[in-house]
Amino acid sequence: MKPAPFDYARAESLDEAVGLLSGAGGDARPLAGGQSLGPMLNLRIARPALLVDLSPIAELREVSEDEDGVTIGASVVHSAVEDGEVPDVTGGLMRRAASGIAYRAVRNRGTIAGSLAHADPAGDWAPVTMALGASLGVMGPEGGRTVAADAFIVDPLTTVLEPGEIVEAIRIPRLSDSARWGHCKLCVKPGDFAESLAVVVRDPDRAHCRVALAGPTHAPILLDGVATLVAEADGWSDALAGEIKDAAGSGIAAAGFADTGDRYAMNVHATVTVRAAREALSR
Ligand SMILES: Cc1cc2nc3c(=O)[nH]c(=O)nc-3n(C[C@H](O)[C@H](O)[C@H](O)COP(=O)(O)OP(=O)(O)OC[C@H]3O[C@@H](n4cnc5c(N)ncnc54)[C@H](O)[C@@H]3O)c2cc1C
Repeated sequence: MKPAPFDYARAESLDEAVGLLSGAGGDARPLAGGQSLGPMLNLRIARPALLVDLSPIAELREVSEDEDGVTIGASVVHSAVEDGEVPDVTGGLMRRAASGIAYRAVRNRGTIAGSLAHADPAGDWAPVTMALGASLGVMGPEGGRTVAADAFIVDPLTTVLEPGEIVEAIRIPRLSDSARWGHCKLCVKPGDFAESLAVVVRDPDRAHCRVALAGPTHAPILLDGVATLVAEADGWSDALAGEIKDAAGSGIAAAGFADTGDRYAMNVHATVTVRAAREALSR
C-alpha cells in the first residue's frame, strides 16, 4: 500500500523541529528511522499531514558519558549500542537488548527514542529502560521536562508525549560493579517482537532492584513483588523459583497485564520472569 499524501520537512535543530511540530496543530509526526512509522504510513494507520525528519539534527546523535551514567541522543540507532559505540554503563545489558531487536538492517536505522515513542507493547527498549531506572529528556513548546522510563508508556502505542514534544535523549544510570542483570526474551523466531520479555536489574550497592515485563497486549509493567524477592535472595534455589513464579502471577493479574484465564499467557510470562531472575542471581 502507499501512504496518504503528506508534507515533509527536514529540521536542522531541535528548536526548529519543535516549532514545525507544534505549528501543525497536532497533525505532524517526528520521523526518526522510519522502521515503525514507515509501515504505519503505508498501511494508513498513521495519516499525518506533516513529517518532521529529525535525522539532520546533530545534537540528537550525541552521546555523553559521566561517572553517573550515559546520555544517549534520540537519533542513536540500535546498532550503535550493539557495536559498542555507545559506552555500556550497564555491564552488557544494553548490548544484549540491542542485538536481539529484529535484524541488522532494522537495527541500523531504528532508534532507541523512536522505539520508546512508538510504544509497541512488545518493544525491547521499554522494559530495559524501566528496569534500569532510566529517564527520558523531552523537549516541547513549553520547554524541557524529564520523564521516568516507567511513566513514559501509558498504553500500547500511547505515551505521555504531548503534541509538539520530542524525545531528546535517554539517560541511563551507571550500574555498580556488583550489579547483576537478567534478560529473557521469548519470541517465535530470533529477532521477532517478544511474546514475553522480562528484565531484572539487581544493584545492591545502589539499593536498586527492578523487574520489568513486556508482552504483546499490555503496556510494560514493573513487578515489585518479584523485585523484593530478588533483592532479598541469597543465591538461587527451586523454592525461590516457585516463589518468584507465584509473585509474577500476582503482579501480572493485579496489573491486568494478561487475562488470568489464559493459562498459556500467564505461564509464559511467569516462566520468562523466573528465567530472567535466575540469570541475574546466578551470575
Ligand atoms: C521487521 C521489523 C522487526 C522489528 N522487530 C523489533 C523487535 O523485535 N523489537 C523492537 O523493540 N522493535 C522492533 N522493531 C521496531 C524497531 O525497533 C524500530 O526501530 C522502532 O520501533 C522505531 O524506531 P524508529 O527510529 O524507526 O522510529 P520511527 O519509525 O521513525 O518512529 C516511530 C514513532 O516514534 C515517533 N518518534 C520517533 N522519534 C521520536 C522522538 N525523538 N521523539 C518523539 N517521537 C518520536 C514517530 O513519530 C513515530 O510515531 C522492528 C521493526 C521492523 C521493521
